[in-house]
Amino acid sequence: MISPFNNDDDHDDKPREECGVVGIYNDPEASRLCYLALHALQHRGQEGAGIVAATRDGVLNSVTGVGLVSEVFNESKLNQLPGSHAIGHVRYSTAGQSMLKNVQPFVADYMHGRVGVAHNGNLVNYERLRRELEENGSIFGTSSDTEVVLHLIAVSKKRPLIARIVEACEKLKGAYSMVFITEDKLVAVRDPYGFRPLVMGRRSNGAIVFASETCALDLIEATYEREVMPGEVLVVDKKDGVQSYCLSQHPEPKSCIFEHIYFSMPNSIVFGMSVYESRRMFGEILATEAGVDCDVVIPVPDSGVVAALGYAEKAGVPFQQGLIRSHYVGRTFIEPSQGIRDFGVKLKLAPVRAVLEGKRVVVVDDSIVRGTTALKIVRLLKEAGAIEVHMRIASPPIIASCYYGVDTPNSEELISNRMNVEEIREFIGCDSLAFLSFDSLKKMLGGNSGGFCYACFSGKYPVAPNGNVNKVVDFVDDGLNGSIQSIDGGWLQGSEDQGQDLNHEEDN
Ligand code: AMP
Repeated sequence: MISPFNNDDDHDDKPREECGVVGIYNDPEASRLCYLALHALQHRGQEGAGIVAATRDGVLNSVTGVGLVSEVFNESKLNQLPGSHAIGHVRYSTAGQSMLKNVQPFVADYMHGRVGVAHNGNLVNYERLRRELEENGSIFGTSSDTEVVLHLIAVSKKRPLIARIVEACEKLKGAYSMVFITEDKLVAVRDPYGFRPLVMGRRSNGAIVFASETCALDLIEATYEREVMPGEVLVVDKKDGVQSYCLSQHPEPKSCIFEHIYFSMPNSIVFGMSVYESRRMFGEILATEAGVDCDVVIPVPDSGVVAALGYAEKAGVPFQQGLIRSHYVGRTFIEPSQGIRDFGVKLKLAPVRAVLEGKRVVVVDDSIVRGTTALKIVRLLKEAGAIEVHMRIASPPIIASCYYGVDTPNSEELISNRMNVEEIREFIGCDSLAFLSFDSLKKMLGGNSGGFCYACFSGKYPVAPNGNVNKVVDFVDDGLNGSIQSIDGGWLQGSEDQGQDLNHEEDN
């Protein structure tokens, strides 16, 4: 896992993605627990972090900042967040945008009080909603789609606040797992398709916790109770405890399968399934369906590790660490002026000659996006003495961009949208290449397979995007990739089947 999509910090082994949210109700240390939970969710966003906490007399205090959780918060910042309920957010964002004002949670005053919100996902009708609101006089302070939610709540005529939140959410299209905070309540909402995860847990003192992933519950010793169901609105307050409401749409859920392939931590339970178990199975399936004679199986750390373990076990071949990932590479690095080929990858992944020399190597990664990381990894392995390199990818080919909160480049940049498997193999220079087949993935999910969104593999979108959808990020090169055209063998240019039409799943 080398992220091609940002100015990667690599203080850790984790993927870079979208956002993470947390909410805590009725714990004297709510903001501290939020802070810890955000650490556990740091892999979901490294560009900014924030917490809003409500004091006993109903004041919402907020601390937000650009950077990692450890950079944004310290003892004195947390001391500014007293109160027994709080929400938090880690954000993955665009480098180019003015950053601080887009860091969540957002807080707003409306006629009857104050409300804060933290959102994971991406709204596909944001532009239209924003235009309508602006035509009616709303003034926006950020370029984030989340802000429309606050405006919709403010303009709603409904009472009480929960009815305003429900009315606002029913106007939203796309992906949203959100937590709201008010003077005396915590509210968790998941969109009717359940694109992004959101779970509920409870601490031994009775405090209720909402979080994007269960790894956040584990850290703060909250027991996982259940998912917030797609289309569910959970309201927590002192008077009524936890109450569940439903948004009016009831489509079949479409949870993001990429959470299992790449985003979520392997120690999380996501959509009711262990991420570790899914990835191990992906590896096993690859070994069964696309096995090849080899001496050693190695992962691309860290996102390929569990699938590689599954592959090695099934194939009965030793699992080795043929690539060592550096955990200490900073956000930016200065390259020598004469240039070193594949510098970014080399800085982060070091091949182990003792594992690779003279060996036929199977290397497992979670996905191929633009194909440039794989190309560099194959080159590294061969330079370190591997006599054969067989690449196995624990997901189907990604052919379409995501509109529901995943940072994928535009379809034209996705190598599997431009080339078939043999062409990709030739481009990345490996001896064989195989992807997890789409059918096998669905077969593995069994009876649950209808409940997932596969738009990135099929181009069939459960919710059609309206107009120009602001994706979660604009592509930011981290020096690992260079543009496809500038990579050796730039013969890729001008492939004919670029620019897929957006298919609406229901039309297909
Ligand atoms: P690429 O060089 O564009 O093919 O990138 C492939 C690598 O990007 C794989 O090693 C994945 O682990 C990683 N990856 C996949 N999806 C994402 C994502 N949404 N954000 C960041 N990195 C990703």
